[in-house]
Amino acid sequence: MLFKDITYIDENFNTVEHAYIGTKNGVIDYISTEKPDWGYGEVYDGAGKVLIPGFVNNHCHAAMGLMRGYGEGLPLQRWLDEKIFPFESKWDENSIYWAGLLGMAEMIACGTTSFSDMYFFDAVAEKVVRESGIKCNFDNPPICFDGTPLKKQKYFPPVDEMVKKFGHSKGRFLEEFGLHAEYTSTEPLVKEVAAYAKENGVRLHIHMDETKLEHENCKKNRGMTTAKYFESCGIFENNVNLAHCVWVEDEDIATLAKYPNVSVTHCPSSNMKLGSGFAPIRKMLDAGINVCLGTDGASSNNNLNIFEEMHLAAMICRGNTGDADNVSPKELFKMATVNGAKSQGRFDTGVIKKGNKADLVVLDFNKPHLVPCYDVLTNIVFSAQSSDVVLTMVDGDVLYRDGKYKTIDINKVYDKISYYLPKILEQL
Ligand SMILES: [Zn+2]
Repeated sequence: MLFKDITYIDENFNTVEHAYIGTKNGVIDYISTEKPDWGYGEVYDGAGKVLIPGFVNNHCHAAMGLMRGYGEGLPLQRWLDEKIFPFESKWDENSIYWAGLLGMAEMIACGTTSFSDMYFFDAVAEKVVRESGIKCNFDNPPICFDGTPLKKQKYFPPVDEMVKKFGHSKGRFLEEFGLHAEYTSTEPLVKEVAAYAKENGVRLHIHMDETKLEHENCKKNRGMTTAKYFESCGIFENNVNLAHCVWVEDEDIATLAKYPNVSVTHCPSSNMKLGSGFAPIRKMLDAGINVCLGTDGASSNNNLNIFEEMHLAAMICRGNTGDADNVSPKELFKMATVNGAKSQGRFDTGVIKKGNKADLVVLDFNKPHLVPCYDVLTNIVFSAQSSDVVLTMVDGDVLYRDGKYKTIDINKVYDKISYYLPKILEQL
């Protein structure tokens, strides 16, 4: 496809107008303000539109969309114990397939081209990702309190098989390894997870310091903060994506900053909705930590929309500090794109440059809330809505255009959800 006369965000996050951008064989093959001499197939009229790298939703539980609006008004621990865990015990391969597809459809329509997901049924996740065309780093973490060694757990063989198969994939689906959290594991298990990741060269995805209770209990029970504890267990010797980090202390930030392979994923909607608090993002950015953005599951958000996360991240930083320049549109946009790609180990995407994967999103700027436009990134962060997405492309394949899905039969998804959801609910 050749995007003609389009405004785009370049690799230095500057705005370039009236550009021609050509995609070929899944990559960005041409960038210039001059028209190319040869064809790139369909010519897309970019007048009034803005081309951006696709968003990376770096912490999600896509299938939890079926719990959107379920168990409202409870704090994290009661919400998990009384509502979420019982519901999750009723999943089967069919219900989770359609729930996963619903989540991916939602993300694709919101301009997300890649996401990091922590959940169950890895093989089903791989199938849904392949069929929908989105990119995904997936992990299925062990949860164990009884001292059973990792490799002796019933959980282990199928996950290990997925790691062997997809742990080093260069394709759309990449299997990671994970740890649900400090409070759902034992110290020997955490050490085994760290060692397994190192031995297999796979990435880790972990919830850390989401609530004050979690952070304080870790200090009480283990005599050190969660970050120090994970460091002592060897977790940070791997590529790690730490979700939340709301309650990290200044010393923890210094600890995390020592490891360039550690990323933090800020989930402002989820943290505020569950009353968990406000992550110290400015301090982490200043320490040089790779900070990304995530929605968390739609059950604690209640949607999978990165535009909202950029907007809320800005509002929190500024509102909490009284500093109207606390975090810039460029920093927020990087958190939503290239920082997430880096955390996922996908170094060939996240910015628009020649040779990178054609993971691209077109925004329609001919909207009342986007006029006038003094600065494109400011409008994207502070004014744009997910409904401004008119095209989502992954590896050069159009997945969504003008409200229509190319790879997902969305009406069938709705039908299947209305069939499977009551079957789960009647068992509860
Ligand atoms: Zn989560």
